[in-house]
Amino acid sequence: MRFKGKSVLITGGTSGLGENVAIAFAKEGANILFCGLIDSDGARVTAILKEMGAKAYYTHADVREERAMEALVSEACDHFGGLDIAFNNAGISHKAARFAHMPVATAREVFDTNVMGVWHAMRYQIPVMLAAGSGAIINTASILSKSGAEWMTAYGMSKHALIGMTKSAALDYAGTGLRINAISPGPMLTPMLTRALDDIGGDMSKFAGGFPKGGPADPMDVAQTVLYLASDDARTITGANFIVDGGVSQG
Ligand code: NAD
Repeated sequence: MRFKGKSVLITGGTSGLGENVAIAFAKEGANILFCGLIDSDGARVTAILKEMGAKAYYTHADVREERAMEALVSEACDHFGGLDIAFNNAGISHKAARFAHMPVATAREVFDTNVMGVWHAMRYQIPVMLAAGSGAIINTASILSKSGAEWMTAYGMSKHALIGMTKSAALDYAGTGLRINAISPGPMLTPMLTRALDDIGGDMSKFAGGFPKGGPADPMDVAQTVLYLASDDARTITGANFIVDGGVSQG
């Protein structure tokens, strides 16, 4: 029960990794506000968290909208009296395409979601945590933040930018009690991976970043790294990018 009574805000908590992180925090006593775009999944995950005894709230909120992120942080403070932990996880991918065939609208949409979405969220999370003198923010990147992403330039670009933002913001607040880190998962069994595999129709030469020998990760296992970074055990860690990929990016 490392997080008993702690308040956690999660973006993109309606499926996949975000849902698993919400459940992992609830198991350890945390209360959770999460957002997403699919309300039926929001209701489904809220019911799971409540059944576990957590105070749990879902809000339909689009990370691309700054005002929505401002309101979401306010809502967390209203429900819980403050914000201890934020997991900025909402993200999208896109269809595999060579650079010159990728519509500029795709690059903009992915950047708006994966980079500016986290920017907007952190913009309002940070002042609340600074005022409290402590806080932990964890952002979801990808192993495609570490290497080039063949067929996936827009996605790879966005995750590199997210790491630059995470490291820079971490330095801005190092020593204040506020820590900002990222995780970089490899392939995980989530709806995003299913969509990516459907898109390439079995042609694994189009799968950027490689597949772990042991198969894609269970997102609940990846969730444990998020909880570690949020915990006091990680009190010396800020500005880090934790690779959680079964070794696939080391080859
Ligand atoms: P997913 O599609 O199951 O979850 C994505 C979540 O983000 C959903 O809750 C979705 O509703 C939400 N979301 C998307 N756009 C949003 C928006 N504009 N506003 C609010 N919410 C929005 O996929 P996932 O695999 O769980 O993805 C979670 C994170 O993990 C993403 O950042 C993704 O890039 C990253 N990631 C996934 C893999 C993988 O193999 N699945 C690997 C590395 C990194």
